[in-house]
Amino acid sequence: MSLHVQDPAVHKIIQEELHRQQTTVNLIASENYASEAVMEATGSVLTNKYSEGYPKKRYYQGNANADDIELLAIERAKELFGAAHANVQALSGSPANAAIFGAFLEPGDTFLGFTLTGGGHLTHGSHVNFSGKIYSPVHYEVDKETGLIDMEAVRALAKEHKPKMIISGFTAYTRVVDFKAFQEIAEEVGAIHLADISHIGGLVAGGVHPSPFPFTDVVMTTTHKTLRGPRGALIMCKEEHAKAIDKAIFPGYQGGPHDNVTAAKAVAFGEALKPEFKAYSAQIVKNAQALAKSLKDNGIKILTDGTDNHMVILDLCPIGVSLGRPGAVALENAGIITNCNTVPFEPGSPFKPSGIRIGTAMMTTRGMREPEMEQIGKWMASILQDMDNTALQAQVKGEVAALCTRFPVYEGLG
Ligand SMILES: *Cc1c(COP(=O)(O)O)cnc(C)c1O
Repeated sequence: MSLHVQDPAVHKIIQEELHRQQTTVNLIASENYASEAVMEATGSVLTNKYSEGYPKKRYYQGNANADDIELLAIERAKELFGAAHANVQALSGSPANAAIFGAFLEPGDTFLGFTLTGGGHLTHGSHVNFSGKIYSPVHYEVDKETGLIDMEAVRALAKEHKPKMIISGFTAYTRVVDFKAFQEIAEEVGAIHLADISHIGGLVAGGVHPSPFPFTDVVMTTTHKTLRGPRGALIMCKEEHAKAIDKAIFPGYQGGPHDNVTAAKAVAFGEALKPEFKAYSAQIVKNAQALAKSLKDNGIKILTDGTDNHMVILDLCPIGVSLGRPGAVALENAGIITNCNTVPFEPGSPFKPSGIRIGTAMMTTRGMREPEMEQIGKWMASILQDMDNTALQAQVKGEVAALCTRFPVYEGLG
């Protein structure tokens, strides 16, 4: 029975979400519009299967198709990134990181990661997260003058604290990460290097951000951000770490893999292997640079004065401290979806931050290019400089809706 007949309440909410995604300018840096093929695989009968273990080494019978889909996803992932080993079972980025910690660290062990206000992820040592509760984090910060990660400062901290693991990668940083330098520092102090490329996975796959392969010990990426696949994660590593990673995922941290999502990962990796994905990734970065320029030209301060990736971080301190959330609400009133974010050396607090983080992966998927970015930047600047102007918000909302109809998405749905 189809959903709208069996459960109109759930169906209605999903339709409303489809409408929201179609009629708003979505600039959440961690989101994307997965293809209809990816969503078809996610919604397939593979959701019914239990396949604890790994291909050809399962605990249950009936796994011939689950084996085939997992092996296909693994092969495509390895080809896409040039990785020696891939594990496609991680349910999402955070459990993937938990398993990686579990593979290499004992409780109490020290690791080095990017500070959270500077751009690190919760799983890089927040005191409310497993990473900060079970393990002992030490954090590097961006340089106060340049806003960039200072590799000599990272090296000094590594030498001082002798961490067992060093994490490169971020959730909010707009410049190129020097994975090679991180690996060298890790080798100097005998640490494992984890490159958490959750955000830029698609850009690395598309060849527009330097790759952490083949030299990095372990690489983790989510599959649903710039990579544009289903919600999930992918762990890759050198052959010497393959056993430890696989054992940590299963039986260490997870039970049965989600074979339907594995299938959708295979579809997404297949899409990312096509030449069009290279062009898509390049356009994401061009769009982010055009959006950053438009915001700057219209008076908004941008962290590091620009971007090398899909992301732009607005520093609203010149307008006022702790205006990130009210700014994001004002933008949402105008149909522009963003999230508030801390800025380095945050003068407000994590709950009342002073920045807004945006990304261009979604609008690039819809086919928008530099002229649209310039327009969106103008709208955003005018709203952020006049946050209480609800008439302006209403007016822009109408213009946003008109822009969205010119760049349709999911026309076959609903
Ligand atoms: C998004 C992200 C994660 C976590 O991914 P979830 O799927 O939300 O659990 C981990 N690390 C980084 C750097 C991220 O950006």
